[in-house]
Amino acid sequence: MLEFPKSDRTVRVRMVDTTTLMTIKSQVLIQPVQPGHEILNLTDVAFLVEDEVSGEKVMFDLGTRKDYWNLPAVIRQHLDELIPSLRIDKDVTEILSESGVPLSDIGSVVWSHYHWDHIGNVALFPSSTSLVVGPGFKSHPGLLPGFPDIADSPVPTDAFSRREVVEPDFATGLTIGGFRAHDFFGNGSFYLLDTPGHCVGHMCGLARTTAETFLLLGGDICHFSGVIRPNADLPFPAEIPTEVLDKELRFPSPCPCSIFTACHPSAKVDQDKTPFYEVSGYKESAFTDPELSQQSVNKLLEFENSPDVLICIAHDSDLPRYLPTLNEFPSSDLNAWKEKGWKAKLRWGWVNELPRGGQPGRKPLVDGYWRDGKVWDEVVATMHRE
Ligand SMILES: [Zn+2]
Ligand SMILES: [Zn+2]
Repeated sequence: MLEFPKSDRTVRVRMVDTTTLMTIKSQVLIQPVQPGHEILNLTDVAFLVEDEVSGEKVMFDLGTRKDYWNLPAVIRQHLDELIPSLRIDKDVTEILSESGVPLSDIGSVVWSHYHWDHIGNVALFPSSTSLVVGPGFKSHPGLLPGFPDIADSPVPTDAFSRREVVEPDFATGLTIGGFRAHDFFGNGSFYLLDTPGHCVGHMCGLARTTAETFLLLGGDICHFSGVIRPNADLPFPAEIPTEVLDKELRFPSPCPCSIFTACHPSAKVDQDKTPFYEVSGYKESAFTDPELSQQSVNKLLEFENSPDVLICIAHDSDLPRYLPTLNEFPSSDLNAWKEKGWKAKLRWGWVNELPRGGQPGRKPLVDGYWRDGKVWDEVVATMHRE
């Protein structure tokens, strides 16, 4: 039984569409790869979290820097091997400014983890903004002081210079849902959870949106909703509600499973009660410890099955599709998610990505590598420079 510490303090949570669109080889993130679903579509959201009493503001993740060709060498030189297409129109700093949130208001940036598609360009924030990294990050070999000081570090030195870099204490004995927790503001409104496995220092955020309800900001604890759905407590319904299916993909189906080209690969499991995928354990996996990652995902199921928690993983493309973003509606927050029934609305949209009847699901979200709103043909050569 999932139990939360009591508090009447809440945070206001707004979602930022970081404008990152990409496709990635599925084997990097999920297994077993299904025929017709060899490529995953990913969007990328970040969150503006604000203590409702003090007004203190935190960015949880920053998406991708729009000048991705300036990423540390070890990232940019290999990006095109696994990422067939990529487009970023804006840095999160631009989106915040355009939405009337001055960068000097952002007290901290929290990285769910240090991967390039979450760390944005921290150097664009004033030095008054601190950077919060996950447990073990600072002492992990090969990361700090960053690129170019360390030639193959995946994080840039300029993210850390001129600012406080904080690694929160998770050894206080506080746990939530089996994860070690850190009470970020010290008032029960916003917790960081130690959710290990994807890479060193991976954290989720747990934001109290009312006294009894929470948003779980998932980062990359998993990358696709089919890793947590369906499950024993939330099986596939007899029919997927038509309104969540893309028009061109709708047709009546008595068993949702039968719309897929391949049902769950293991015939031994109940197909309507077992998550469609697991985290990738392939050689190309983006998970440094797939087994530990899957344990974190298994713990996540308890949050998924609570009516009081809405899980928002960074790359769930239904989030920017269905929920208000800071980009479009700067004053709209996500706090009334339960009242508005968003959990049910977001539950099954991911099946649109799956192949069915021998045909692929949704088309790629983006083709080619982009810069300034156009395909940029020379980019691969640029990224492969020394
Ligand atoms: Zn990641
Ligand atoms: Zn990611």
